[in-house]
Amino acid sequence: MPDYRQEARDALERAKSLLAKNEEQSLRYAALELRIAFEALTYSRAVAYKDNLPEKEWRNWQPRRVMSALLEIDPSADKGGSLSISKAPAGEPGSDEFVDLGSEQVLSLRQIKDHYDALGSRLHIPTPTQRESSKANDPARLRKRCEKAAEAVQSVLNSNLWNLVFNVTSTVPCTRCDGTVRALVNPGTKKTEAQCKTCGAPYIVTPDKDECTFEAKQVTVKCPDEACGGEQFIWADQANAGSRFKCIHCDQFFLIVTVLAMEKNLRRPEEDN
Ligand SMILES: [Zn+2]
Ligand SMILES: [Zn+2]
Repeated sequence: MPDYRQEARDALERAKSLLAKNEEQSLRYAALELRIAFEALTYSRAVAYKDNLPEKEWRNWQPRRVMSALLEIDPSADKGGSLSISKAPAGEPGSDEFVDLGSEQVLSLRQIKDHYDALGSRLHIPTPTQRESSKANDPARLRKRCEKAAEAVQSVLNSNLWNLVFNVTSTVPCTRCDGTVRALVNPGTKKTEAQCKTCGAPYIVTPDKDECTFEAKQVTVKCPDEACGGEQFIWADQANAGSRFKCIHCDQFFLIVTVLAMEKNLRRPEEDN
């Protein structure tokens, strides 16, 4: 497996020396190197999560696709927090000085993607409409963007959090649609919930050693028609007050009017009048 972190480090160094040239023309090339660094970081994370990525995503690697697939399975993707990092690696001169990264997390995949997209938009010459805005061509803005991105890459390379791998991970096909349900469970978690990314079907996930058990989150409903009285399962996310359900035994429609814990009160829609 290629050393993606080293590739990110190399690209960052090239970007830094381009920025140091202080030439307007070099900024675009610095932006390109920084994008390469973000791609390398994304792939290094993808390698850690290989078993969770669908074969299709794994075979057809494209930064954007890998990024969105990772965003789905990475539980820390949208978590915030405040963090300071040392300006130099521990033990080296400058390591007692800190850079405050503000309220952002070290760098979530979401942030990586944001940087990546923002840099990408600066790799093309502005369209005639964009030219009307003075911002589009402002080298000072591009320099600032590059500097922020370089800081972000550096923070990932300095961070131990980045390659933290969670010990229980699992993927199952959704039983309601063709989608995939992915669960990524932290050590010590006894039970958690996961949703199908395609249709939103809820599942209860129970980790057990190296595997997870997925249980469809459904409720049992008894047909209120006494002549029928048939039982069936309804997905928990579809058993909301106001939603309709069709009895599979007698084909009648009923309206769910209140939801009390796991018990359902059902009425025929015509009784509303
Ligand atoms: Zn589904
Ligand atoms: Zn029925």
